[in-house]
Amino acid sequence: MSIVAIIGGGAAGMMAAYAAGQSGHQVHLFDGNEKLGKKIYITGKGRCNFTNAISLEEYFNGKLVTNPKFLYSALYTFSNDMVMDFMEQHGCLYKIERGDRVFPVSDHASDVTMALKRGMEEVGVSVHLNNKVKSILTKDGCVQGIQLDCGKTFACDAVVLATGGKSYPTTGSTGDGYRFATDLGIDVIPPRPALVPFVTKEGFVPLLQGLSLRNVTLSLYDGNKRVYSEFGEMLFTHFGISGPLVLTAASYVGKRLESSGSLRCEIDLKPALSDEQLDDRLLREISENGSKSFRNYMAKLLPGKMVDVFVDLTDISPDKKARDLTAADRESIRRWLRHFTFTITGLRGFKEAIVTQGGISVKEIDPSTMAVKKCSGLYACGEVLDVDAVTGGFNLQIAFSTGYLAGISIE
Ligand SMILES: Cc1cc2nc3c(=O)[nH]c(=O)nc-3n(C[C@H](O)[C@H](O)[C@H](O)COP(=O)(O)OP(=O)(O)OC[C@H]3O[C@@H](n4cnc5c(N)ncnc54)[C@H](O)[C@@H]3O)c2cc1C
Repeated sequence: MSIVAIIGGGAAGMMAAYAAGQSGHQVHLFDGNEKLGKKIYITGKGRCNFTNAISLEEYFNGKLVTNPKFLYSALYTFSNDMVMDFMEQHGCLYKIERGDRVFPVSDHASDVTMALKRGMEEVGVSVHLNNKVKSILTKDGCVQGIQLDCGKTFACDAVVLATGGKSYPTTGSTGDGYRFATDLGIDVIPPRPALVPFVTKEGFVPLLQGLSLRNVTLSLYDGNKRVYSEFGEMLFTHFGISGPLVLTAASYVGKRLESSGSLRCEIDLKPALSDEQLDDRLLREISENGSKSFRNYMAKLLPGKMVDVFVDLTDISPDKKARDLTAADRESIRRWLRHFTFTITGLRGFKEAIVTQGGISVKEIDPSTMAVKKCSGLYACGEVLDVDAVTGGFNLQIAFSTGYLAGISIE
């Protein structure tokens, strides 16, 4: 039996504590917050989408963004089905919604935290809240204990680092784990916000604030190279663009955006129509609305908020009669409908990022145990690692799987 200190009482830390306790260790969990699972409470808009029920093979088919292969052992050791069983056995009944997203039946994220607390109680984990950890103590490459902010030290045989990333820092995830790792000579990939909105350059974008577009295709270009293209739903904001389509795109192109400085964004507002169908439609509608002004005709074709911005971009006089629109005018309308273009200049910050990309390099970690190779007795799990996924319950599943694997691997 080892004495184990878990740093962090989020999804990964609590699951690691449970698994370590179940394996017969004496477990102490430390968190700087006044309560456990502070981030869990705000997940899934307070409903906590705690996993996704698609097959694990599908997880590896585009759902895991950074270092998917590293997660193979963890996900197969403690799968989504096992997370669902764990929740049910610990009093959190669940339901599966659109997109195979799994939620507590009550729609209360607190039920997920309750289940984790019950699990920890069952195996005798001691929880130390309001206890921020200052550093990890080691000697000759072996864990010796931890030092708390209050000055006290806690001696132990193993430490699990589950401090999360840097996103939504008000939940306690302030990136301390990166510092602990760096202090021990462990490589950390610079953290970057992910699942985060984009900032845009053009002045017309904020004018569209509040406009939500469904069934559009968003494509991103670095010079002439298309680096991302997906269909879905997005939203204009006072600083740029957001919404499901955009958040996922940010996770895939964040790194490239950082190196290129900017990307071109093109929205196809009518992706369901071929060029020919779109032209036919324009010709038909123009003849049906011949006496209308160009502006009033566009009001039939576009959401209200977009009309003036769009008309302005086409360089066609808003008062021009529809019947007087030339082939060149039609071409301009078609081009803007197909390629509503603006410039992405950056990502919003960690305060608005659902997850953090980057973190402890997976090269430093044994994927079959979550042990830190350089430091005997040290394990890391959850968002502090350089792993992340798209939305849909995958990030919490990663936290649970890596946490569980770390917990059962402690010697
Ligand atoms: C708004 C929002 C909504 C989300 N919705 C979903 C969703 O529906 N589904 C999904 O799968 N994912 C969702 N996520 C992502 C998911 O919440 C995280 O990926 C996951 O919670 C990470 O778990 P973790 O245990 O690794 O880290 P965290 O949950 O960040 O926990 C880390 C813990 O460590 C503690 N800590 C940090 N430093 C110290 C220190 N020095 N000493 C002591 N304690 C310390 C912190 O207080 C914190 O409690 C969402 C994220 C956000 C921000």
